[in-house]
Amino acid sequence: MKSRTAAGAMPERGESTLYELSAAGRGGSGLPAPDVPEAELPAELLRDEIGLPELSELDVVRHFVRLSQRNFGVDTGFYPLGSCTMKYNPRINEVCARLEGFAQAHPLQPQETVQGNLELVFNLQEWLKEIGGFTDVSLQPTAGAQGELTALLMMRAYFRDRGETGRNQVLIPDSAHGTNPASTTMAGFEVLEIPSDKNGDLDPGALAAACDDSVAGLMLTNPNTLGLFERDIDEVVRLVHGCGGLVYGDGANMNALAGVARPGDLGIDIMHFNLHKTFATPHGGGGPGSGPLGSNAKLADYLPGPSVRKEGVVDDSGIRFTLFTPQKSIGRMSSNFGSFGVFVRAYAYILQHGAEGLRANSQHAVLNANYLRVRLRDIYPLPYERSCMHEFVLEGKIEGSDVRAMDISKRLLDFGFHPPISYFPLIVPEALLIEPTETESKQTLDAFVEAMITIAKEAVDTPEQLHTAPHAMPVGRLDEVRAARKLKLRENSQPSKGEP
Ligand SMILES: *Cc1c(COP(=O)(O)O)cnc(C)c1O
Repeated sequence: MKSRTAAGAMPERGESTLYELSAAGRGGSGLPAPDVPEAELPAELLRDEIGLPELSELDVVRHFVRLSQRNFGVDTGFYPLGSCTMKYNPRINEVCARLEGFAQAHPLQPQETVQGNLELVFNLQEWLKEIGGFTDVSLQPTAGAQGELTALLMMRAYFRDRGETGRNQVLIPDSAHGTNPASTTMAGFEVLEIPSDKNGDLDPGALAAACDDSVAGLMLTNPNTLGLFERDIDEVVRLVHGCGGLVYGDGANMNALAGVARPGDLGIDIMHFNLHKTFATPHGGGGPGSGPLGSNAKLADYLPGPSVRKEGVVDDSGIRFTLFTPQKSIGRMSSNFGSFGVFVRAYAYILQHGAEGLRANSQHAVLNANYLRVRLRDIYPLPYERSCMHEFVLEGKIEGSDVRAMDISKRLLDFGFHPPISYFPLIVPEALLIEPTETESKQTLDAFVEAMITIAKEAVDTPEQLHTAPHAMPVGRLDEVRAARKLKLRENSQPSKGEP
């Protein structure tokens, strides 16, 4: 079958390595002899026999450019990774982040020399307050998961101050992202799982039964990870507050809400944003990200610092924007300010779109997801028959075939599409969580639907083709766990002397 990736973008399997291409005496261009004395290198760093390949500069450039093209990214293809919002990252954000005054500033520079940068941080705090409906924002956490941990540590401090030290349970829906229970455990709380009902909403009856004075709070993702808006949100918040607990919002799914509804108005006490999801900053292979926290007045005193504050007047040295750390702050969660380069990108994104644009983006994200949901629901089982928010779950099963979600996901690679999130949320068997985002065109969505239809046919006619997929990738089916934990970093299978 023909791959839809651009011709030539994917290297052939078993292509030559740099070692095989090596020819004695070949090399890159040299530099003129130095006109200053050569420095002595420490002898222990110098090795005679390390057997490096000898190649022309062009061979080396081609090799590494080819390797870089093996990465799948949102710049090369559709990436409907549910929950992670892999939307296009506008290039203007990159241009802004590289401006000298941003990129070359040192975090410990005297404040009067970086007033513009502090103003940007201050404005971003203000905008996130407005978007989330919170009284305070801290930009310190460098990921959503770190925002969760930070908030839970703040909740501990809050209850300690109130003498309510018996509150050691955190309620978490069974549809929640794995970071929620992990952060809870790291913060020293116990996890109590609350089931979802058959419609995909958190079960208010089960929640009511769990709410008592041992509860520190609830972690709620809304829309939840099934892509469904929690319709009983008012009742849920009332129950948790009613027993003295706090409501944490997991804001990873803000791409459905930004500009439309504010979590603070829904009764959420504290929430993390994921700038690398909602505000189109790069996910960057695991980092750097940014997971700012928005909080209401109950918890604001405990936020990490420093944050930036705007003074009423400019002082003699030209300072208007100053650093401050809240009174009862739990301390720092990152060195200095957090991921400043990410703030610049998110700032540029919000500035480009404005309130109307952010609202339109959320609405289009929801529209795109519903379009795919409706086009695919007769082909793959749809566990929740109701309109979705920015993502939805299908079951990766086809009647009369033994193919699984894994086979479908791997086969999608052959069509040039990144697979959806597979096997999450855990409560849907063979889950495929699909999030198209607002940045994809109808043509792309239609091409994805066509691929999913073709795969459903193959599942019945030629299931082996799916079991053994992918076929058009540089490597076949990898062991998911070992491939991530035991990286093969060495091109040369013969370890050179001295290497472990
Ligand atoms: C991505 C995500 C997180 C964690 O955010 P990171 O920024 O990746 O640490 C938490 N909850 C949900 C629902 C998510 O999708």
